[in-house]
Amino acid sequence: MSADRPRIAIAGGGLAGLSLALALKQALGDAAEVAMCDPALKRDPHGDKRAYAIAAAARRMLEALQIWGLVADKAQPIRDMVITDSRLHDPVRPTFLTFAGEVREGEPLAHMVAGGDLTGALVDACRNAGVALMPVSVESFSAHPGAIDVVTDGGVTLRASLLVAADGARSRLRDQAGISWISWPYRQSAIVATIRHARDHEGKAVEHFLPAGPFAILPLKPEALPDGRLQHRSSIVWSERSDEVPHLLQADPEDLLAELERRFGLELGEISFDTKPQAFPLSFGVARRFTADRLALLGDAAHVIHPIAGQGLNLGLHDAAALAEIVVEALRLGRDPGSADVLDDYERARRADITAMGMMTDGLNRLFSNDALPLRLIRDLGLGLVDRMPGLKRFFMQEAAGLAGGTPPRLLRGEPL
Ligand SMILES: Cc1cc2nc3c(=O)[nH]c(=O)nc-3n(C[C@H](O)[C@H](O)[C@H](O)COP(=O)(O)OP(=O)(O)OC[C@H]3O[C@@H](n4cnc5c(N)ncnc54)[C@H](O)[C@@H]3O)c2cc1C
Repeated sequence: MSADRPRIAIAGGGLAGLSLALALKQALGDAAEVAMCDPALKRDPHGDKRAYAIAAAARRMLEALQIWGLVADKAQPIRDMVITDSRLHDPVRPTFLTFAGEVREGEPLAHMVAGGDLTGALVDACRNAGVALMPVSVESFSAHPGAIDVVTDGGVTLRASLLVAADGARSRLRDQAGISWISWPYRQSAIVATIRHARDHEGKAVEHFLPAGPFAILPLKPEALPDGRLQHRSSIVWSERSDEVPHLLQADPEDLLAELERRFGLELGEISFDTKPQAFPLSFGVARRFTADRLALLGDAAHVIHPIAGQGLNLGLHDAAALAEIVVEALRLGRDPGSADVLDDYERARRADITAMGMMTDGLNRLFSNDALPLRLIRDLGLGLVDRMPGLKRFFMQEAAGLAGGTPPRLLRGEPL
């Protein structure tokens, strides 16, 4: 780092860290160095087969970063959403709430995108833009007046103005910064897999609220088979009690498929697993502060929420949009991007949104992952009422699309920095 060329170091090249790196480098060009450290950069970036629901606001950001055009033809728009509430053995799953999936004419509420497609596009774009991609982990750091020294596992020390810890839910850097983590387990795990099915999903996402946890069917882009036919596919996020999950995953494949069919239903015809199911233990967590001396937390390092609404990554992209805007503005005004004032702006910009989304997803999970009759009656009445109130429905859709609240950061409005 030289006096006229500050450096921003980012530890963690998940989707949140990569988006921040690209946003900063595109806006600042040669005026700043952006260094991205992550040992995972040694791996094939296309390896992540999980699919994510990318909400409309996050999609606008990817468009502003010129990433969306690279993944759009592989992304599946969510055109409709259906929510049901029933017990596993109930013969029918009555629909309580439906959403037609557009936030504006021609703009779907969300798209399903493969993580590997997004990571691949972001890594290439970062490289082309001039982000220094370093396949190393950050081991430690020490903040001094005016700079922070970031030590990598190769023993290299990078002097930076700001260190962004985007190193995921179990962030070691958050602990090293002495930031406490408020968390509780959900005693649920999410089984994630891609499912092949005979019939077209027509862009419909379905969430069955079952007593053990939500079971989501999320539409994926069909795959062209060598003989020209289309293979219809969906992603599932199957929340189940954690103590049940090992039995399910170790069961005979036919028994596991039978359990899946009980939840997935018959609407899409015959089903089979396209990918090996993977389980993720679920928990809630939020950092007591998002900043420390010359350090900012980003993405899952700052907050982990239940996947009931598919919003975890969307929150992380929102962090990246907010932090990029604040840092770019500071540098353009000749301010120090790692100063306490600048970091306070970031803390203020993100605290309310993250707390609200964390509480909302936690509350929904508690309300729905439950078989108590009075609660079932209240929530079904609530869902039925929302379904009949277009204004309230619109509000929930704007919230899910990441477009509610005050003025979002520029990138989330689709405007470059
Ligand atoms: C079942 C499930 C389904 C989900 N579905 C959705 C969805 O549909 N939509 C949505 O918005 N969200 C979803 N989420 C949430 C989403 O997966 C996460 O919020 C998101 O992946 C977090 O991204 P991240 O970049 O913050 O962290 P990560 O993806 O965890 O990346 C952290 C990176 O940091 C690196 N790293 C770690 N330590 C160091 C170090 N010391 N130095 C350098 N690098 C380091 C790691 O190698 C890794 O690459 C889901 C979550 C679950 C569990």
